Amino acid sequence: MQEAVNTVQESPHASNKIAACFFGTDHDKAPFSITRSNDYPKILEPFVTQKKRFGRNSGYVHAELIAIMAQTGGWEEAFIAITDPPCPNCMKHIANAQIKFVYIDHKGFEKDFFKRRVEDFNLLSKKIAELYGITLFKVYRKEKRIEPLFEALEPIKKQTTFVKEVSSEDLKKTFATKESGSVYLEGKTKDGNLLRLMSEPFYYTESKKEEPLPNDKELSGRFHLRSFPILSVMIEAKRLGVNLEEKKSFFAIKEEISANELIWALKFNLQGFIEKSEEERSVLDQEYMLTLLANMISST
Ligand SMILES: [Zn+2]
Repeated sequence: MQEAVNTVQESPHASNKIAACFFGTDHDKAPFSITRSNDYPKILEPFVTQKKRFGRNSGYVHAELIAIMAQTGGWEEAFIAITDPPCPNCMKHIANAQIKFVYIDHKGFEKDFFKRRVEDFNLLSKKIAELYGITLFKVYRKEKRIEPLFEALEPIKKQTTFVKEVSSEDLKKTFATKESGSVYLEGKTKDGNLLRLMSEPFYYTESKKEEPLPNDKELSGRFHLRSFPILSVMIEAKRLGVNLEEKKSFFAIKEEISANELIWALKFNLQGFIEKSEEERSVLDQEYMLTLLANMISST
């Protein structure tokens, strides 16, 4: 927690500086600890400084996901400490990363920024945490005290599958039948094992289907409960120890990609394809991703 607090001022964000410390043990049982603040991909700087919005996204990537994605040796067990209560999207990433314990600085709950988003947290973030057996703690650093916000229903034991491992034959047969937005990613682990991971869009709800958002008048309108398949496969690849930085990995996405996913693919300089039909695929390189994002700019 203290590491996150020490790092928070490194955030380039003018008002909402947030930091997260992702820690745990890797596949060799070695401890790791990574702290990052919220930031944006450097290539988006002109847009961010002009305060453009890409759909619902400002161009910023949240501290929680930057810290999770910065781990290179995979993880066996992991935790996260955050200066502020996580937004619903970050709670999805936390669930994807199979994190079961989240520590939040109590001061984060007192900030005006949080007060404007309190229902996003109460009605969406907490709901996702409950659903996936994630226990949230409020941390009082000075008093060296932690307090659970609520007890998760099934802590630890529930390992949830967000991503499927597939063979190359499965891939050809099934990807064509998948819903728009489905993603597969191919990459190699440290030991040279080839992994093919696939994720279809789903909702972080009991039924995994779309359900009306609770009490939507109170929500900021920035969030939904739909998954981000690219992020699901990237997080799972990272958890299993795939080195996404080595350029041996690539992803393919079917038909459509969200702003949030584009920003992440750009941040990571990930190589990809976008498939419109089985025969037709376009290279999703940096230039194309920037074009797609530019088309999503709204003038609010
Ligand atoms: Zn967030």
